[in-house]
Amino acid sequence: MIGTGILKGMAVTARNFVGSYFEKERLITVQYPEERNPLPENYRNFPFLPYDGDDPHAGLRCVACKICEKECPPQCIYIVKSEDKKPDYMGKPQFYPKVFDIDISVCMSCQICVEVCPFEAIKMDKDFELSRRERFDALLLRKSDLAKSNEYYHSICPTDAAEVDAKLATAAEAAAKKKAVAAAAATPATSASG
Ligand code: SF4
Ligand code: SF4
Repeated sequence: MIGTGILKGMAVTARNFVGSYFEKERLITVQYPEERNPLPENYRNFPFLPYDGDDPHAGLRCVACKICEKECPPQCIYIVKSEDKKPDYMGKPQFYPKVFDIDISVCMSCQICVEVCPFEAIKMDKDFELSRRERFDALLLRKSDLAKSNEYYHSICPTDAAEVDAKLATAAEAAAKKKAVAAAAATPATSASG
């Protein structure tokens, strides 16, 4: 019968309206911005650059390999590699991005940059309150805007962040073991030559 769908829809609305006086979970209206619904863990918006520890420069995981810049479909990442190096989370000297910009007016939130990064150095953020009055530069996020702590990553994506921490800890442990084996192998040769 024509109009059945409309009647069914109105019945659902009426049931929820009356039910909302008795069951709190039927009250689905949120008084934004004072109230906010929690975002699902797999919600994503634009990328950010996680850093370990307290220092956004020292702890930045990005080594400026530029893979994400090359793979980004709309080409909205711009990186300039440093001339000097700084230690990474395993103490290995690595280049870092002197400049790392993302134009979020162009970014399409595809997450390809995250998928291709071999260093767990770029992740998707959930910050959606990004409207700006200016039309141009305001949506070009600089390294200082993009760098966010690992604690922040844990607060928005606890499951993924814990997996990444475990992966990095395993890699650091393996690297330390390898270094220890190499040092042990080098010791007899040194003493023999001495
Ligand atoms: S999410 Fe996609 S479009 Fe945005 S910076 Fe990453 S690769 Fe580029
Ligand atoms: S974010 Fe990852 S892929 Fe992009 S430059 Fe840094 S280390 Fe390379």
